[in-house]
Amino acid sequence: MKPIALAFAAFTGLPAGPLPAGSLLPATAPVGWADTWAEHLWSSASSASSASPATQAGADDEPLDADALEGFFVDADDLPPHVMLQGCELALSGGLTPETWSREIWLGAPFPRIVESGHTERDGHWIDYENIPRRPERPEAYTAYRYPVVAAPVVSGYDLDKPDDEQRRGSMNAIGHGGVDLVAEMDAPITMIRLEHQKGDAEVLYVGPFFGETVITRHVLREGGADHEYVLIFGHLDHAAEGLRRGRRLPDGATVGYVGNSDSPNLVHLHLEARRVRDGVDAWKLAPDTLRLPESTVVSDPRNVLPLR
Ligand SMILES: [Zn+2]
Repeated sequence: MKPIALAFAAFTGLPAGPLPAGSLLPATAPVGWADTWAEHLWSSASSASSASPATQAGADDEPLDADALEGFFVDADDLPPHVMLQGCELALSGGLTPETWSREIWLGAPFPRIVESGHTERDGHWIDYENIPRRPERPEAYTAYRYPVVAAPVVSGYDLDKPDDEQRRGSMNAIGHGGVDLVAEMDAPITMIRLEHQKGDAEVLYVGPFFGETVITRHVLREGGADHEYVLIFGHLDHAAEGLRRGRRLPDGATVGYVGNSDSPNLVHLHLEARRVRDGVDAWKLAPDTLRLPESTVVSDPRNVLPLR
């Protein structure tokens, strides 16, 4: 077969940052390949523009050194079977046109559909609220996603979009569940994961008591061609990562904290909740008690923002 020249790093879809310790790179990882490609373009562009004119001219005149390119271009037939050339193969096959490429990179996720829902509270009165249900193209199975805790099964999923009688009514006070509960060993590390269409690193908004010991992070996601803020709430921790404080950047793989059972007696788990910050609201000005007010944020099915395996 005729060799296909491929810019390997740009097309493999591998995340730019280090993976969480102990995590497995999924065999068919489509993890943020488009973002990786975009970063590759941007870094190339910025390094080219920062070079002096003489350097640039010299680079243009320089004949290509075949040895230097060794390993940069690869024959697809030589790749190990677990490497999936997601973006490249899709583009070459016509499954991803230049238009859809640019849509993926620049538009990001579609604008969310905010839906009116409601349920009966324990005291019998009905409350209305808004939420962002799972988008139909996002897999329903929780096992299709990556989580901040490795090998921690989801034991309780998001149900605020379900009919009243199908929402969770457990032993705790809350009706319905606006996040996912991941069961793990006490003190299992919680590591930051880059969300779908996330730009830059996550940042710490809050560390302290809320859902037990809690860490809240801010994420800028590309959505409908614009940047938009989301927050993640990590609840019931045993403790946060040492030195973690407001403003700290949390790149992919950075430690957020450790799983525990604070304010969740006898149930060691991580509560992970995603909320979309309302237009015109500054996430940095939200305290934990105002952050969950309906005028500040809208709760979202986490499957809309979690990276796929
Ligand atoms: Zn929960």
